[in-house]
Amino acid sequence: MITVQFDRGVYLPSCDLWLDPRGNRPFAFVSHAHADHTGNHQRTILTEPTARFMRARMGSSGKVQHVLRYGECRDFGNFRATCLPAGHVLGSAQLLIEHAGERLLYTGDFKLRPGLSAEQAVSVSADTLIMETTFGLPHFSFPPAAKTIARIITFCRETLAAGEVPVLLGYSLGKAQEILTALTGTELSVMVHGSIWQITRLYEEMGAVFPPYARFEQAEVSGHVLLCPPAVVGSSILESIPEKRIAMITGWGLDDRTLYRYGCDAVFPLSDHADYVELLEMVDLVKPRRVFTLHGYAEEFASDLRRKGFEAWSLTGGNQLEFAL
Ligand SMILES: [Zn+2]
Repeated sequence: MITVQFDRGVYLPSCDLWLDPRGNRPFAFVSHAHADHTGNHQRTILTEPTARFMRARMGSSGKVQHVLRYGECRDFGNFRATCLPAGHVLGSAQLLIEHAGERLLYTGDFKLRPGLSAEQAVSVSADTLIMETTFGLPHFSFPPAAKTIARIITFCRETLAAGEVPVLLGYSLGKAQEILTALTGTELSVMVHGSIWQITRLYEEMGAVFPPYARFEQAEVSGHVLLCPPAVVGSSILESIPEKRIAMITGWGLDDRTLYRYGCDAVFPLSDHADYVELLEMVDLVKPRRVFTLHGYAEEFASDLRRKGFEAWSLTGGNQLEFAL
């Protein structure tokens, strides 16, 4: 079967291709433009939205780009590659590799349930599945997004009614646009941090539609819902708003400790990753002969799969426990 290695990124020696590596590599697939998946590589396989986000955020999307549309199969000599929607953020992609009569699917970050601002993920069969397992423990079961969104809207209305500014914290790429879309049709006026404004404009250039929003102005923020990236916690922007309530929007909101970790008033579990049931569903849909896990609870999820009879290993180590048994 196709050899799979890991060294700050997945490496397929027979294809001489890296998957979401850190640093600079000769030839890499970049699944999406979140910072922990990008690098400045010589040759890059990616989608057009990911290339645009990388240029906006890093100033470059690789020296030579192979931009693939979803479903388009490209021949790279010793392997063929197809990008498939991953449902994580706009333009996020899984990569299907076909090499020597075998199929390998790399999910990158993904979610199967429909979102408001990313393409719907698809699944295909493969002999080898390499999957992210950020929320790979059974207690990570996200409530229906509509319920969580209703709670976020109630939080905003109650905060405004108390004369305070509701501050919603979500990543600039993906989460912020999901929240913004979720506020469509409400009476809420929205302001967004500059980094979110920049990415949201790119979404619009690529056809996304959002409710009206304004760029953050400290003097004007009263009466608005403010969307910011989590990095603003402790910054002068938040200090400049005396009366506020802060809510973190993250899948980690299922964990009670998140409230204390972020020092927020509320946490809402809206995620752009698969939860535990979706991770299992992905395995069911792909029907792999072999699974490699990475990110989050990779060891635990691989162990669960082994108990279900799959050949499954964490790429980031930690399989020793059962070797010892
Ligand atoms: Zn991501």
